[in-house]
Amino acid sequence: MSDTPVAFSDLELPSSLLKSITELGYETPSPIQAECIPLLLKGQDVLGMAQTGTGKTAAFALPLLSRIDLKSNKPQVLVLAPTRELAVQVAEAFQVYARHMPGFHVLPIYGGQSYTLQLKQLRRGPHVVVGTPGRVMDHLDRGTLKIDELKAMVLDEADEMLRMGFIDDVETIMAKTPATRQTALFSATMPEQIRRITKRYMREPTEVKIASKTATMENIDQKCWIVSGTNKLDALVRILETDEFGGIIIFARTKTATTELAEKLEARGYAAAALNGDMNQQLRERTVQRLKDAKLDILVATDVAARGLDVQRVGLVVNYDIPYDTEAYVHRIGRTGRAGRDGKAIMFVAPRERRLLKQIERATRQPIQQMDLPSRDLVQNKRLESFREQVSNIVSKEDIAPYRELVDQLAVDTELEVLDLASALLYMAQKEKPLILPPEPEPRPRREREDRESDRGEKRERINYEDLDVYRLEVGRSDGVQVKNIVGAIANEADINSRHIGDIRLHDDYSTVQLPKGMPTEVLQQLKGVFICRKKIDITLMEGEIARPAPRSDKPRGEYKGKGRNDRGGNDRGAPRKPRPRRDA
Ligand code: AMP
Repeated sequence: MSDTPVAFSDLELPSSLLKSITELGYETPSPIQAECIPLLLKGQDVLGMAQTGTGKTAAFALPLLSRIDLKSNKPQVLVLAPTRELAVQVAEAFQVYARHMPGFHVLPIYGGQSYTLQLKQLRRGPHVVVGTPGRVMDHLDRGTLKIDELKAMVLDEADEMLRMGFIDDVETIMAKTPATRQTALFSATMPEQIRRITKRYMREPTEVKIASKTATMENIDQKCWIVSGTNKLDALVRILETDEFGGIIIFARTKTATTELAEKLEARGYAAAALNGDMNQQLRERTVQRLKDAKLDILVATDVAARGLDVQRVGLVVNYDIPYDTEAYVHRIGRTGRAGRDGKAIMFVAPRERRLLKQIERATRQPIQQMDLPSRDLVQNKRLESFREQVSNIVSKEDIAPYRELVDQLAVDTELEVLDLASALLYMAQKEKPLILPPEPEPRPRREREDRESDRGEKRERINYEDLDVYRLEVGRSDGVQVKNIVGAIANEADINSRHIGDIRLHDDYSTVQLPKGMPTEVLQQLKGVFICRKKIDITLMEGEIARPAPRSDKPRGEYKGKGRNDRGGNDRGAPRKPRPRRDA
């Protein structure tokens, strides 16, 4: 984050897009956006080293949208993404940014969705198609997706696509696009196979890497909470209720989010206000002054508005939304621990943002400890304690005699015992802060939780073979199939996290794969029609076959090597494919 940020209005984006950005409450371009947008607007190729959470979607969607010809109904932009989840998310982002482009149409296509539906949607002529490589290949093979008029192509999370075994498909697809198309490739890492693609298919790409500075912040106690089970607002309130922090600064991404969150906190009884770029200088200064004077306890701020903020009583910084990069993180948490005091920093990290967390830890060379939320009992006790205090204060400081009379009268009128009456009044008095909290939800079964929290397979837990069935696929080594092709296809088509796929064994003309028990018939039916290496897999349950780990000697050579079972990052040799047309870079 530089000291003089570029504004979205400096970026020469069309007014329709600027309007959406303003409505979304984006204040300034994130670093990756500030660098990528001008390059992509000029028609250059871009190689972005960036991961989820950096704002990379807008970094390519905004400039590419500005080049869409709404009158043409052939796909002009194709985005390839590793998973259906990401494909849908990217398509939604396009739709939101294009809300003031009348007639604009984006279509996500991914495995697991019916072909008939996709065909119908493809016929409507989407301007942008966002798809997983397998499905895109299928549609290209069937002739139902035309990419001869593509102006641009984006490979999103290229390293993930490599890891999931899609890289051959990606190359085949790229080779079919017009040589004139522009390319943007985003990847958190740059393994050799991806470098190779960039050399073969991209034209002098500009590499965009967001530099991160290191800094020491020894007086700041840094923690993070991985978002799960509880929503972020409830989590925040739990934290705020169970400790004393003095002043607090909470960082959110957008101007809209700052006002919304400040309002919600106010509704829960906190002295909170927003601090964002929509406020004029005078109002911002007044708001900061109120924090200094302890008339406010919480400011909910955007990065820009909080730049340089120096308030000594700030004891806690909450990264409600993860910052875009290390520099922003360092700046944010530096708003506490001022003038040699101690400070606390808590960051909320969604499971899919874990990589950004790791990057921050690496760059700051400090581990950020994971924390649990304060327990329900603790919150409940704190609430009771503060209620008790309020009641004692009122009894000792206020003239409550007239109220005693009222209570007497009420008891007579309602024919209630005073204890029941008091309970009803207590019930009414608790408002946004119930004094009796609902029981903690049962922790979700491990399997499901990991599905949601997975940061896509970086660690594999041990597989419980009793939970798996064995299936037979009618594709084998002689079709050029590799383990990773099977993983990628099944993960996307059946929406099974790759970590829950058991052993895969390749034979010459068939393969077997272990999949979680209880697969719904529709999913199995769906999987039957999936193609791997151009051949229908026609999957069937092998009844009576018991899933067990492969004996070491049984492991097909070259398929199980690497870090662990089913190492999906292995090399790409050996898949005999049609010779690929090469294109000079
Ligand atoms: P991404 O890294 O593309 O997954 O984006 C992460 C999140 O940041 C999304 O929720 C975006 O809506 C949000 N976002 C992207 N760009 C900006 C921006 N310039 N200002 C505020 N929020 C943004």
